Amino acid sequence: MSTSVLPKEVTEYFPYPSIRPHQAQFISTVFNGVRDRRSVLIEGSNGLGKTISSLSSILPTAINKKLKVLYVARTHRQHERVIEELKAISKKHPVTGISLRGRNEMCLNKSESRKAHDAKSLMELCELLKAKGECPYYNNNERTYEYLQFQQQISSRPYQSLEIIRACKKKSICPYELVKSAVSDVTVIALSYLYVFDPDIRNAFLKNLETPLQKIILVVDEAHNLPETAIEISSSSLSIYVMRQAELEAKRFGYEEAASFARLLYAETEKLAASISREEKLSPDFLTKIVRDKAGILAPRSFFQSLNETGLAIKKTLLSEGKHPRSYLHSMSDFLLRWMDTADDESYIALISKYFTRENTQTAKLEIAALDPSKTTQPVFSSTYANVVMSGTLQPLEAYMKITKLPENTIQHIAPSPFPKEHILSAVCLGVSTAMESRTPAMYQTLVKRITEVVANTPVNTGVFAASFEVLRALLEAGLEEALKKPLYCERRGMSSKANEHLVAAFKEHALKGGAVFLGVQGGRTSEGVDFPGNQMNSVVIVGVPYAEPTPRVKAQIEYYEKCFPKFGREYGYVLPAMKKASQTAGRPIRTLEDKGAIIFLDYRYATNYCRSFLPTWVREGMKLLPAKDNALSCVLRDFFKM
Ligand code: SF4
Repeated sequence: MSTSVLPKEVTEYFPYPSIRPHQAQFISTVFNGVRDRRSVLIEGSNGLGKTISSLSSILPTAINKKLKVLYVARTHRQHERVIEELKAISKKHPVTGISLRGRNEMCLNKSESRKAHDAKSLMELCELLKAKGECPYYNNNERTYEYLQFQQQISSRPYQSLEIIRACKKKSICPYELVKSAVSDVTVIALSYLYVFDPDIRNAFLKNLETPLQKIILVVDEAHNLPETAIEISSSSLSIYVMRQAELEAKRFGYEEAASFARLLYAETEKLAASISREEKLSPDFLTKIVRDKAGILAPRSFFQSLNETGLAIKKTLLSEGKHPRSYLHSMSDFLLRWMDTADDESYIALISKYFTRENTQTAKLEIAALDPSKTTQPVFSSTYANVVMSGTLQPLEAYMKITKLPENTIQHIAPSPFPKEHILSAVCLGVSTAMESRTPAMYQTLVKRITEVVANTPVNTGVFAASFEVLRALLEAGLEEALKKPLYCERRGMSSKANEHLVAAFKEHALKGGAVFLGVQGGRTSEGVDFPGNQMNSVVIVGVPYAEPTPRVKAQIEYYEKCFPKFGREYGYVLPAMKKASQTAGRPIRTLEDKGAIIFLDYRYATNYCRSFLPTWVREGMKLLPAKDNALSCVLRDFFKM
């Protein structure tokens, strides 16, 4: 379709000669919304070109009003994609932009940065090295003519963070510091959610940006992730390991009272952990009782405050000795103070939970779990110039609006799918389910039979995603691997991201050599973060509805939403997260307009009107219901793939 149907202002930026089906509607909605200083909540499937559509609709307003665009997304690949599109735009209209990575990835001082355990300790280490003039890469960031020229260069056209890192390596200058000094001069910055939604990181970042939120247009890509990320940001935990380290540290520095309190705390936590199965809700009094009754301290808050000051003093001592200024006592007291702050707030619950370390030993932690994502998102959404919040799986939009508290005048829009209908087969098999009461050996035998039918009637690769690791294990025990005539690649619980990448790469190679099967879980790394275009995954099988276990945390979430949104607690806290995982999994094989993919749901519950209403329109439209008998799947698949 010709670009002449686009708003005139957008055509100055849109770099391609033609547009895809329904792309014009998407662009006009975003352009009009942002121009009128309104937020836009928009669902658009893969293949619609959401990145280029949003950028070219926002840039006319951003440049005209001298605003900045922060484009947040989860993966580096998505950040680099934003810059690739900006490069295409810049051939038509000058525009600047950079993608930003965390300090840990940009730091060139690897021998030092390896000593830091997390982003916060790397920040402290970096500050120390800079203050002492001991980072050669920072010392080279002196304002020489060459440096300033380089800084000007990266603020003159779109640059990917990898390009900047490569160029900085050649000149031995710190890319992180260079980017920090250049961000205030560029229009578009692609970055992770944390820079915008974590209040501490945001404040530091906005200072470098020299721009208040009111002068920022925010784009949230893959926004289905936002509620969960917002909850992670405002939750915190304290492990037994940190308590033990705090005791040793306090002893080393001669703070006996602090050491004995840390010892008491981990002993009490260990005792409690021994009496629970996996996770328990705690009364907020748990801590104050330990402090008052067991330690005989009458004013817990002032005691925690004094621990915090002791931790700060330890940091200062370490700093003056030229050592890495990390204090476990400080981290522990930060958590304890936060516990006190959230004790009377019903949007938080206190928990104790058991978990396995990387070394496979069982331990426990105390947690403050946030229940309300809007406490993190609303302060941002209500302050920016405008927000464009988009994803392929956002329905029902009204629920998303309420959960994240987008401004009331937000424009809600669902863009029709650009995929030709004949490229998608969506089918539900009746007579099968992974509902608890249905999990019998006979049911798993039937599920294995259905999966085998899909694999046998799929031209090359198949992805199979179970509702949980328990279901995955049961499928293997029911003989899935033996029943398949193609090699099986299986995701394991707790797998590192590197190991998972290797597994996925090995599976994808079979796209060129006869096909294979990938077995994973819904809501896992592979079912949400990896694309499988072309023959890399022709069919995807969704085994069961991935409802969460009814843990104390899940129950508290449902209760909290029920209080905020009467009659919708279960839907928002339990059904929606599960359907989001299933919808994301369904989208794996269909990434480009040329892809042809079969989406097979092995659970009759997907056929109900209730479950279907949470699936993206392009999946539920034309969904076939298959009878509970052998070969029904084989027939439709053979017909679809013309095998
Ligand atoms: S100044 Fe740069 S290179 Fe040096 S430690 Fe900090 S981030 Fe790393």
